[in-house]
Amino acid sequence: MRIIPISLPTPFYIGPVNVYLIAEDPVTLIDTGPKTREANDALHEGFRKARIRVSDIRRIVLTHAHEDHCGLARSVRDEAKDAEVLVHAWETGHRIGRLEYEGHRSLLVRAGVPREEIETMRKMYEGVRQYADSFEEDEYSQLRDEEELEFETGTLRILHTPGHTPGSCSFVREADRTVIAGDCVLKRITPNPVLSPDPIDPAKRFRSLAEYLVSLARLRSFAPTLVHGGHGEPVRDFEELFNRYFRAIRDRQTQVIRLLPKTGATAWEIAREMFPGADDVHRFLAVSEAVAHLDLAHAEGKIAVELGDGKEVYKRIGGNGVRGEQGNRGKGNG
Ligand SMILES: [Zn+2]
Ligand SMILES: [Zn+2]
Repeated sequence: MRIIPISLPTPFYIGPVNVYLIAEDPVTLIDTGPKTREANDALHEGFRKARIRVSDIRRIVLTHAHEDHCGLARSVRDEAKDAEVLVHAWETGHRIGRLEYEGHRSLLVRAGVPREEIETMRKMYEGVRQYADSFEEDEYSQLRDEEELEFETGTLRILHTPGHTPGSCSFVREADRTVIAGDCVLKRITPNPVLSPDPIDPAKRFRSLAEYLVSLARLRSFAPTLVHGGHGEPVRDFEELFNRYFRAIRDRQTQVIRLLPKTGATAWEIAREMFPGADDVHRFLAVSEAVAHLDLAHAEGKIAVELGDGKEVYKRIGGNGVRGEQGNRGKGNG
């Protein structure tokens, strides 16, 4: 099975995005790049080099619905005539703007983000949305965990690997333990668990970091030899990256707990402490990151959370930032 990476420019801070062409029947494109003329030209150049005509493409598979990955899905589908678009059902970003979504707004309010700041984030995302078309419910097929995408010379197993987004998927070729992982695995940066409503219960927040840790462990169980990520070079030493991610996540959690003042703080306040220089989209990513780490620390019984004035205020347990005697009592093996 030939997996051909194609690098496409994006207008985003993250830089170029990798999409993957599987040049055998049924010809399949995994991710598409953003909806810009530059990305479209680079994509067509990639097809030409691989000696594939757009009309040969039968399937467009999306690792997740961020604009840099899914933006050209509609235009490639239309150009290919009858290609099928596949995405996980939990990936709602391709249908509804993430911040227009009322549930999303309420998550930001609960995280303590000031109203005017939410308004700025909303405007910014309207700007970002121009880089992707949306899809109606009946215009795509669902990627289902553990099902297989069949090809002439082999299969790719679909793994639902939530974390970066609720519906993120990875694809494993078990014959040589090659993985296409979208933004679940990136060589140079720890992927950001983006603040999202829970797809099952949108009134709740998706437990992105806890889910992400499970997804990483699941990928690890395949002992990958080569992981193609959504950005940057492929990862050949997944074990090293796995350990590095875990250390980074633990270090960040320690930092987040230390930053909590005695009186408690909202995720927004912690985000501003952690990333004082963050502007634009980075403020949203900063608050996403703070919420993710605070949620995980809370789930692990390391900090407490109280709802006051519509906002969640995180507090230390035991008053000194370290889990105290009281925090430990009755918790079994902690
Ligand atoms: Zn992404
Ligand atoms: Zn990305």
